[in-house]
Amino acid sequence: MQIGPAGEKLVRFACLINMCNRANGRTGMGAVMGSKNLKAVAVRGSRRPEVAEKEALAEMRKWAADVFPKSAVSGLGKFGTPGVVSVQQSTGGLPTFNFSSGVFDGWKTIDGHNLYETALKGRETGKQDQEGRDTCFGCIIRCKRVVEIKEGPYPVDPLYGGPEYETVATFGSYCGVDDLPATCKANEICNKLGLDTISCGATIAWAMEAFEAGAITPKDTGGIDLRFGNGEAMVRLTEMIGKREGFGNLLAEGSARAAQHLGRGAEFLITSKGQEAPAHMPQVKRSLALIYAVNPFGADHESSDHDPSYEAGFNFFKDRLGKLGLTQAQEPRSLGPEKVKFARKTQHFFSMLDSLNLCQFACGVKKGTPTRPTLERLGMGWVADRLGL
Ligand code: SF4
Repeated sequence: MQIGPAGEKLVRFACLINMCNRANGRTGMGAVMGSKNLKAVAVRGSRRPEVAEKEALAEMRKWAADVFPKSAVSGLGKFGTPGVVSVQQSTGGLPTFNFSSGVFDGWKTIDGHNLYETALKGRETGKQDQEGRDTCFGCIIRCKRVVEIKEGPYPVDPLYGGPEYETVATFGSYCGVDDLPATCKANEICNKLGLDTISCGATIAWAMEAFEAGAITPKDTGGIDLRFGNGEAMVRLTEMIGKREGFGNLLAEGSARAAQHLGRGAEFLITSKGQEAPAHMPQVKRSLALIYAVNPFGADHESSDHDPSYEAGFNFFKDRLGKLGLTQAQEPRSLGPEKVKFARKTQHFFSMLDSLNLCQFACGVKKGTPTRPTLERLGMGWVADRLGL
């Protein structure tokens, strides 16, 4: 686990990178390590760890092998998280032009299907599933992307993986850039330099809106034409931020601090507690907006379940939500006491997943909640008590 040049240069949203392509993304932990002159933490072992509860683990493994291939997560595996671009677009929830709109005319270019067909490694021989998908340790879903682009203005090295949904949105629709290779290139640069893709893309989108409004001028940018849709400027600025060069040095402070330093552009900020918002329109996901406001570290999309699970998607998720006492599906775009209960209960649930080191996607399937017996066998009965399972 290492920081890159961005962490060494104390970019406010520098992150920690594992294996060149996995980011511990938000809140600038790379800058924290950089400030302590800590470059990397490496762990080496020579013995396999003992499994304390072999039977429980075997049970979980059998359950996963049985459930996952028949569940919706098989689609997640094939198209990755960028596969949700179409869903976000259809609900008006795809942040576009720095949250000025929830629909993006160029959405098909950044969607997971296009990524699968035109950018994943192995596409020339139809072997994307073998060569263009990667996995976290031991996970059979394999939702991670491996992009390889050899030609054109934005070559991409597969060593640095491929973009998640948040990344194609922040560098794509946020910035009005309908150029998939450009968003893949920005992702590569972020993984190479150690930048959080959400805050990086969102900060550039903020600057673009301020530029279009005249609050940021070519004099500020060093002559860069920072209008929405300029993919070349977006890619160039990503690199400049990671290296703290030119106008990138100011944007490396994040959008809120950059606006403060400039004394301009604060009216275009989309932040909570100083952190740029992830790729979900708060008007569409209103309980998520509430979580953005009350979350200790600001706007975060992985601290609770998203509203559609308790709205149109309820039938799909009712088994899991029912275990949390959430049985009354709500109207789209609503926020009442039941939605607040949904936000609170699922925030606890997601905290449990984080504490157990479980993936939200893998445990978000129809029958995905660990049961009380399983939790007890893993020594986590207290979690079942806490959740009322
Ligand atoms: S653990 Fe989660 S993020 Fe990792 S490959 Fe599996 S589903 Fe994807």
